Amino acid sequence: MTARPTDAVLAADQQLQPPLYAKRGIALVRGEGVWLWDSEGRRYLDLMSNYGVNILGHAHPRVTVAIVEQAGRLLNCHQSFANDTRAAFLEQLLAIAPAGLRRVFLSNSGTEAVEAALKFAWAVTGRRKIVAARRGYHGRTLGALAATAEKKYRDRFIGLLAEAEHVPFGDRDALAAAVDTATAAVILEPIQGEGGIFPAPPGYLAAAREITRQAGALLIFDEVQTGFRTGAWFACQHDGVSPDLLCLAKGLANGVPIGATLMTEEIASCLPSGVHGSTFGGNPLACAAGLATLQTLHDEGWIAHSADIGAYFLEQLQQLRHPLVRAVRGRGLMIGVELKLRATPVLRAMQESGVLALPATTTTLRFLPPLLLTREQVDMAVDVFAHALDAAQD
Ligand SMILES: *Cc1c(COP(=O)(O)O)cnc(C)c1O
Repeated sequence: MTARPTDAVLAADQQLQPPLYAKRGIALVRGEGVWLWDSEGRRYLDLMSNYGVNILGHAHPRVTVAIVEQAGRLLNCHQSFANDTRAAFLEQLLAIAPAGLRRVFLSNSGTEAVEAALKFAWAVTGRRKIVAARRGYHGRTLGALAATAEKKYRDRFIGLLAEAEHVPFGDRDALAAAVDTATAAVILEPIQGEGGIFPAPPGYLAAAREITRQAGALLIFDEVQTGFRTGAWFACQHDGVSPDLLCLAKGLANGVPIGATLMTEEIASCLPSGVHGSTFGGNPLACAAGLATLQTLHDEGWIAHSADIGAYFLEQLQQLRHPLVRAVRGRGLMIGVELKLRATPVLRAMQESGVLALPATTTTLRFLPPLLLTREQVDMAVDVFAHALDAAQD
């Protein structure tokens, strides 16, 4: 492929797609570890990992080798056939799964993982109502969108959405009041991501477990964003609570599209053949990338590292005590800084200084870095962040 001028790349991006995304004004063309390069050769410290996807950073050698090897052997294999790579991946994933989760439905994205969980809950319980949390984000296909709270995503589709009630996140009484014998499932993020990085208060997930059990409703944890990055394999493990269904995607295959819906044996046994499916789901390429990702996380101890480095990062941000910072929240390498101003100008200033982070709502700046982050890189990031805040204040 011949090198294209940056202007042409940016123009194609803007003009050949519908204007659905706020653009950041640079073209990323290459990555290695925690670093990304743009088309002008500028280097960036990546504290966003493509919205939490590149958990082992970019071009990780073990993942790359697994992808290349699998691509040279078999890219696709419909689920009506078994496959060696898929079998190995499923075994590895279930070996680390929270207690009681024994089977996996494979798809290609986060919203598909949620869509499957909701369909399974509707199919198994025969009930219709979904209870979700305010500020919750679960994806934007029509099923998942019913659970997503934010008005700007929902407004135009209201009449098309399944029945859902949104309760204040963290409030046990409100949850208990909303869940009844018409409730198919409660769906929660153990730490809300898009909504601004809000960890569930202690005891809330356990209360959700108890409330759903009593009402005969299912409990779904959406760990599409929290999976692998909160200092545990799964965020619900900090609380020792297992759901009936668990959704994964983002970090699971280090950048190759994948979604997974884990479930109990009991739910699996109630799902009739044909009730759901996916042509690409469980393809050997994604499974090879997922297997290499899980093995590398395990063999090289990255989950424990993310707990340490995340605690250090959080502490450094808290110690800033900058007048424009309202709150610092998070766990492991899922961190949000709520600002007293809009996040966009701060993000732009950081980008110009070579550090990429993300927004989560308009006033919260979010860090979802690869787990490979070092203390020196945290120091650099916090320094750049502090300078960007100072510049915003002037
Ligand atoms: C990103 C996200 C989704 C949707 O994932 P997509 O791959 O973008 O469809 C669902 N739930 C949570 C918690 C997410 O963070």
